[in-house]
Amino acid sequence: MRDPNCIFCKIVAGEIPSKKIYEDETTIAFLDIYPANPGHTLVVAKDHFSTILGIPEDNLYNLSKVLKKVASSIRESMNAEGLNILQFNGSVAGQTIPHLHFHLIPRSKDDGLGFAWPHRQLPEEEMEATRKKLAEKMGYRG
Ligand SMILES: [Zn+2]
Repeated sequence: MRDPNCIFCKIVAGEIPSKKIYEDETTIAFLDIYPANPGHTLVVAKDHFSTILGIPEDNLYNLSKVLKKVASSIRESMNAEGLNILQFNGSVAGQTIPHLHFHLIPRSKDDGLGFAWPHRQLPEEEMEATRKKLAEKMGYRG
C-alpha cells in the first residue's frame, strides 16, 4: 500500500533520499531531516497507514521491536541520557505527515528542549465516567 503523494512513501520507495539507519520487510528508520537533537530518528511503517489505528498488529509488533532497537542504539551511540518517543495521530494532535511514524529524540540534561503538558485535575465523577466508557470499549470488566 502506498500513497503517490506521500513523502514517506517516496522515501520508502527510494525516490527521495534519506539517512537510513535500518530497514526490514515492514519497517524503516532514518534520521529526521529537521532534528530536535542530533540522532533524532523516525521509525516508519513501510506501508502507508495514516495513523496507528490502521496498522495490522503483527506489523506494529515488528515496528515496536525496531523502536526498542533504535532506542538502544541512540542511547549507546549518541550518549543520550534520556529519550523521548513521540507519535502523533491526526492533524489536531500535531501530525504533519499522515503516514504512521514515531519520533525518537535523544535527550540530555542541558539540551534546552523541555517537554511538558498541563496536569489538569478532573472531578472524580468525570474521571470514573471516562474510565467506565473506555474500559467497556476495551472489554475490561475489572
Ligand atoms: Zn505514505
